[in-house]
Amino acid sequence: MTSSGVRLSMSRGGVFLGARPLAPGEPAAAVIAGLPFDGTCSFRPGSRFAPAAVRDVSAGLESFSLARERDLEDLDFGDAGDLELPFGNPAAALAAVGRLADRLFDTCAFPLFIGGEHLVSLPLIAAARRRHPDLAVLQFDAHADLRDEYLGERLSHATVMRRAAEIVGPENLCQFGIRSGAREELEYGRRHTRWHPFSLAAVPAVLSELGDRPLYLSVDLDVLDPGCFPGTGTPEPGGVSVVDLLAALAHLADRRVVGADLVELSPPCDPAGFSPLVAAKIARELLLVSPTFTAS
Ligand code: MN
Ligand code: MN
Repeated sequence: MTSSGVRLSMSRGGVFLGARPLAPGEPAAAVIAGLPFDGTCSFRPGSRFAPAAVRDVSAGLESFSLARERDLEDLDFGDAGDLELPFGNPAAALAAVGRLADRLFDTCAFPLFIGGEHLVSLPLIAAARRRHPDLAVLQFDAHADLRDEYLGERLSHATVMRRAAEIVGPENLCQFGIRSGAREELEYGRRHTRWHPFSLAAVPAVLSELGDRPLYLSVDLDVLDPGCFPGTGTPEPGGVSVVDLLAALAHLADRRVVGADLVELSPPCDPAGFSPLVAAKIARELLLVSPTFTAS
């Protein structure tokens, strides 16, 4: 336990690909941290197991990216472990995520959070916004997540981007790849957010519009087609490919990305065990396009 009330433990999966294990509060330019929370998951839970699974399979990846021609070994990069979270109390869990986010945004240039379900993004976005009033949020997702409430709950992975829009302003929420939602979500998205459904093709144009504004990236991995990423709790047919997602991430190189999350990987939903490897590769590529990267 630290003075700020944030408790982390090393993941059962070890450390992420070549990362330096970090003591509590120890700085690094880029930090990965696990948020094993799936307390509001509506269909198939299991994303609490994602951080350990991603770390475990990451050992099978090269630290060098052939596409980026960059190597994680050239990055001052640490693994903070997994946040310990109270079970059965989403509000307390989100508050703990917020405290960790405050610490990491203050001690590193690029925190990368591994969920957990998508609701964990809410305190992360709130923490980023406190530091960057002109923050824009990029959401890659199969689902709009714009419901005002879901089964009577205002805090859910089905409402998370509606709550985030209330924090950052819906005109600063850029939604890509959405292919599922209710009519109320479609109407809200079309009217209020930067709404780019069905593909990631609009990413370069939106990044051009945003210029050098600080960006927070929230990747709900169910944006991927279930054929290439079955390990998720609410799979939605008709998604983008891993190649599409990697291409979109490449456009983030040299942009002002202040933080990111990868959420909704549910390892038990993929008995073949391929989905954690996809998530690990996405994590590596994200670290390698982050502004902290200083290739020698
Ligand atoms: Mn989703
Ligand atoms: Mn989502």
